[in-house]
Amino acid sequence: MIKLSLRLSLHKMTIAEIIAHLESIAPSTYQEHYDNAGLLTGNPEWHCSGMLCTLDATEEVIQEAISKQCNMIIAHHPIIFNGFKKINGKNYVERAVIKAIKNDVAVYAIHTNLDNVIHGVNGRMADELGLINRKILAPKGNTLKKLFTFVPVNHVEEVREALFGAGAGTIGKYSECSFNVEGTGTFTGNETSNPFVGQPGKRHSEMELKVEVVFPSYLQHAVVTALKSAHPYEEVAYDVVGLSNDHPEIGAGLIGELPQPMDVKAFLNLLKHQFKLPVIRHTSLMGKPVQRIAVCGGAGSFLISKALSGKVDVFVTADMKYHEFFDGEDKMVICDIGHYESEQFTIDLLAAILHKKFPTFAVLKSGIQTNPVHYYF
Ligand SMILES: [Zn+2]
Repeated sequence: MIKLSLRLSLHKMTIAEIIAHLESIAPSTYQEHYDNAGLLTGNPEWHCSGMLCTLDATEEVIQEAISKQCNMIIAHHPIIFNGFKKINGKNYVERAVIKAIKNDVAVYAIHTNLDNVIHGVNGRMADELGLINRKILAPKGNTLKKLFTFVPVNHVEEVREALFGAGAGTIGKYSECSFNVEGTGTFTGNETSNPFVGQPGKRHSEMELKVEVVFPSYLQHAVVTALKSAHPYEEVAYDVVGLSNDHPEIGAGLIGELPQPMDVKAFLNLLKHQFKLPVIRHTSLMGKPVQRIAVCGGAGSFLISKALSGKVDVFVTADMKYHEFFDGEDKMVICDIGHYESEQFTIDLLAAILHKKFPTFAVLKSGIQTNPVHYYF
């Protein structure tokens, strides 16, 4: 019997393998255009010695990673955000980057892509509040595509199987969704062709099924590769078209319900307790019971109008400016609980995602509280 410690040392994992898993949950293409999520320092081919999860890869956190023999930091916020023209250590960002590079620490950021998936940052906030019937508050468009292909009748089963296996055919709670209609395909191969049925230079008619499946755009390469390897024809006929449908599980913010309506002050107490808040900045409490709750970790003022049109009772977010509090129109209670506080459970979320996939690997949570905001009472 092999001892666990031996097994641990034998199993080598690359930074790339860890990133591949994280991006199977929060694909990097779901990040916002202004964002800079991804591998910021380090080499994807390095073997990982241990992972440290944090919200912010500050110099102190990089020191912690070095001390704990973790050569990979998984951070929510990208420490490199605006680009560099010089790197000489004049500010905390440059000092952190220099330290990471000098010590061969890979810093990977999973930011708005983790905000934009239903089981991401906001899903974890919703867990703390016990929200049910969850939906994305502002679903993202242009994230879905459709594949149409034409398959000889006897090979439809294996082609569909391959497409489903590559991640096509999922619509909300349903998987293996496809539409199939029978028709006749025609083709004439040229003199260099080697047709699966018929002869070169002679027009052939074949009973085929037109198969349609929807898939997330980022899987296009995998889906088309699966199609081509399962389809029997030399030249596979297929069309890929972009859809403007919203993706129900991708986008900003989350809306859900408390299992029972609650007195608004009781809800604020729940919020304060679950998020360990010293203080909540909020708009006027309207005195009516609350049940529909929207959450957005970090700066969420861009979602105020979505929350209003979603008839939300309370919107829990952070980084509200004075005038933005007015935008709630006293139709919902806006609660600003602080940026760090709203995203604090993201560290647990990342550690849980990694631990589940790599149970024998060192996955640590940073012990450093990186919140730059303090409260004086
Ligand atoms: Zn944030």
